[in-house]
Amino acid sequence: MASVLKTSAEGRKCTFPGCTQKLSIYNHEAHCHLHRDQIAAKQHRALSATAPFVVGKDDVSKF
Ligand SMILES: [Zn+2]
Repeated sequence: MASVLKTSAEGRKCTFPGCTQKLSIYNHEAHCHLHRDQIAAKQHRALSATAPFVVGKDDVSKF
């Protein structure tokens, strides 16, 4: 039985303004790895200022 990998559309780019980084079909985020981390850190900071940290739909496969 072949395992099917979930992939995203080909040819997507990071939606961060000015970034032209192409996204892997295995990256289901809207941003490249670099900006995803930046945005996650920013959101974490914004969230922890007002509410307890909430675990989102982070890509757990890298762990
Ligand atoms: Zn980017």
